[in-house]
This record gives sequence, structure tokens and C-alpha cells, in this order.
Amino acid sequence: MLDTTSSTIIDSDRIHEVLAHRAAPDAAHVREVYDKALALKGLDENDVALLASVTDPELLEELFHTARQAKEEIYGRRLVLFAPLYVSNLCGNECSYCAFRVSNKALKRRALRQEEVARETRILIEQGHKRVLLVAGEAYPQEGFSYILKCIETIYGVKDEKGEVRRINVNVAPLTVEEFKELKAAKIGTYQLFQETYHRPTYEQVHLAGKKRDYDWRVTAVDRAMQGGIDDVGVGVLFGLYDWRFEVLALMQHIAHLEAQFGVGCHTISVPRIEPAFGAPVSERPPYPVSDTDFKKVVAILRLAVPYTGIIMSTRETPEMRRETFALGVSQISAGSRTNPGGYNEDGEQFDGSQFSLGDHRSLDEVIRDIAELGYIPSFCTGCYRLGRTGEDFMDLAKPGLIKNFCEVNALSTFVEYLVNYASPRTKKAGERCIAQILDAMPSARRKRAESLMDRVRAGEKDVYV
Ligand code: SAM
Ligand code: SF4
Repeated sequence: MLDTTSSTIIDSDRIHEVLAHRAAPDAAHVREVYDKALALKGLDENDVALLASVTDPELLEELFHTARQAKEEIYGRRLVLFAPLYVSNLCGNECSYCAFRVSNKALKRRALRQEEVARETRILIEQGHKRVLLVAGEAYPQEGFSYILKCIETIYGVKDEKGEVRRINVNVAPLTVEEFKELKAAKIGTYQLFQETYHRPTYEQVHLAGKKRDYDWRVTAVDRAMQGGIDDVGVGVLFGLYDWRFEVLALMQHIAHLEAQFGVGCHTISVPRIEPAFGAPVSERPPYPVSDTDFKKVVAILRLAVPYTGIIMSTRETPEMRRETFALGVSQISAGSRTNPGGYNEDGEQFDGSQFSLGDHRSLDEVIRDIAELGYIPSFCTGCYRLGRTGEDFMDLAKPGLIKNFCEVNALSTFVEYLVNYASPRTKKAGERCIAQILDAMPSARRKRAESLMDRVRAGEKDVYV
């Protein structure tokens, strides 16, 4: 029997108890936990609380080193790229940290018409993107939720001779099971929803009006998505609202609940930190700001606690912070992002309707060059989702380390597709250098497979994957 009430998802008394009684970070004990983490079987709540207390510089460096090892072991050198596509900033909620909040009358509002959605999509395709994250506020134009379904149909419908969007992930407000079934039928990849804060009193303080005030409706949403047949779900916390140690332990409880109820945890975790947002004073002075060191700790601890879950890093962070966290466990990143509806169309009417300010303003081509120079393989792969390797099936491959056989070769073939069709000459050079290094370090059977896929792409084929 499914048990999806909020009290069975988050037990905040338990989290406070674990944090209150956590052991002092004795070096020998901490190193035992690092060794345990390297078995890649995850960590329990006491381990996580212990690692969260580590401040000694030497032990911290070892934490980062351990996370780097785990990341390398599971994900190899690939980094998946996507772009957010904001279709609307209409919103009926009053989240005190967000520019889209309903009382922010100075913000220009807009829900893109379908032809505008198509134009934004075409711009992203021309840049080389294959994965899009559809984002919207919680208020739809007249047609209601079917507006989102129409947007999905429009995005998948745009094709040009060089490419198309091959996977749409969605970040919209919580839905009913029936609506989730419609999203699934529209062929979305991951449904993402951030709880913002799992700490109920803080949640109530920062969500002042609208449907989003209902903590329970939000915390149970991912269960409804699963019940609606969406088995790739993403969770997240908006870091800065409450103590990050509490939030990380709550994330773990949420994931454990999903595993117990549905046999599979979440596909991704997002780690947004609050950024300044126009007309949202809380965003300028977050109640619990997370320092850069603590933020790196969050990424490293999550990598070790739930080793097979993807970690997403957006362009809210600066290029430097993004580079540092790639090594610690990030597996997916956005690039060249705009957070206002219509923001990719630079010839169109420009208006300040952005959700928050960005830390990384570089174009997709620049980000790709940077990643390649750091020795990562930029990946546009959408293979698993299109071949039905989702949910439990994906985890069955990921846990024994088999997914690497697909990820690395598909990353290389989609990277070559990018280099051939979209890259600037400088990026092409950096990319080819990176590919040569990656191939040199690959086991020979995998290398052969990768070379044969890349040859097909160089000969003019597109969308080649296994
Ligand atoms: N409106 C839906 C909702 O709130 O779930 C979905 C889209 S909302 C635009 C996406 C996410 O943006 C929110 O879940 C929140 O975590 C994040 N966000 C809001 N304000 C932010 C800010 N000032 N800085 C960084 N992220 C922010
Ligand atoms: Fe609306 Fe989402 Fe922004 Fe809240 S976070 S104001 S629900 S868009």
C-alpha cells in the first residue's frame, strides 16, 4: 500500500535529534566514513551529519578528494548540458525570494504565445542544445494546465536541418495524478520540483500567499508524479532559506521515502542557492546564507550519500564555482541561460522579466570550450530516456557501474555532433584535443565502440546513440 502523507516523508524531529546528537568530527571516525563512501553504497543519516560537521582543512580536502573519486568512478568525465526555457512568468504565489511573486507589480508579465515558444526553441536548437528544461510560474493563461502541454508539443515539433530538442524536462508547480499522467503522455523526461525548504516553519514564513503555501501539497507532489507514471523525478532545495544541514538530511529522507514506496529514488537533485531577484528583498539577504565552502560541502556530501543520483548545477553560480563543483560530483549543467520568457530572442522586445540574476553569462560555445579544456566531455545524450532506460531500469544499470558503458560513448558521439555542426573554430580545436585524451584513457572495447559511433557522426549521421 502506498503511504504518501507528508508526515511519512519528512520526520523533522528525527532530523533535529540526529543533528543535536551528532558525533564530534574525530579524524579516525570521519576517515572511516570516507572509506565507507568509496564502496558507493550510500551513507546513512549519522554519517551525513558527521560529514556536515567537518571543518578541519585537512579533513575537508579529503572530503572533496573522496567526492572527486566517487564522481569519476560513476560518471567518468561526462557533463550533460541543458538550457532552461521559461515560457511564462505569470504567477499567483507570493514566494518572498522570487521576482515572479504576485505582488511584484513592477515586473512585466508575459506568457509566450506558441509561435514565440517555437522561436525560442529554434534559437536554442541553432546554438546546439538538445535538452530543454521547461519552466513556468504557477498561473497559466486561459487554457489552464493544457497551456504547458501545448508548449511541450510545440517544442518537440520544431526541427531544423541540424537538429531538434530530444528531451524536455519540466519544472512547474505541483499537479494532480491525472495531470501528471498527461505530462507523461506528452513524453517528458524528468519532472523536477524543489521543496525550497523542508523546514515547515520557514516554509510558512517565506510562502505568503497562493497555492504554494500548502507545504503538504508540495512535499507529496513527487509521489503523485510517480503515481502518474513519471519514474524520473528531480528534487531540490533552495539553499539559503534554512540551515543547509537540516535540508540535506531532509533530502535524504525524501529520497529514502521514494525508494521505499516506489522502488526507485530520484533521478536528479538540484542545488540552487538564492540569487538576487528584482523586487524580492529576501533574495538580497537570505536568512541562512550558504558560504562557498559549505556549498562545496553540500555537493560533495550529496555525491557520497546518494552516489547514483545526478546533481544539477545551474547558471546561478559563477564559472569558478561551477568548475570547482564539476569535480566534486555535478553531472548536469545549464549553459547560456536566460530566466525571462522570450529571453533568447535578442531581436525581440527586451524587458526585465527575469526570475533572478545569473552568475554565469557565457554562451553555450564558451562553456563547452571551457569544459573540454578541463578534460570533461560535454554531453547532449538523451539515449537512456528514449530507449526506456528510466526509473528502476536506469538504477539497475547505474548501480553495478554499467551505465558508464553507455554514457561515455554517447557523450562522445553527441559531442562530435556538436563540434561538427555548431562549434566555433576555437571550440572545435579544444574539443578534438579533449576527445583524443579521453580516448587514450579508455578501455579498448569501449574505445572501439566510441570510435565507431563518432565515425558515423563525422560521416554525416545525426542522433547516433546506444
Ligand atoms: N513556479 C514553480 C515553482 O515554484 O515550483 C516552478 C518554477 S520556479 C520559476 C523554479 C525555481 O526557481 C523555484 O523552485 C525556486 O527554487 C527557484 N528560485 C526562485 N527564486 C529564486 C532566486 N531568487 N534565486 C535562485 N533560485 C530561485
Ligand atoms: Fe511563482 Fe515559482 Fe516564483 Fe514562487 S518560485 S513566485 S511559485 S514562479
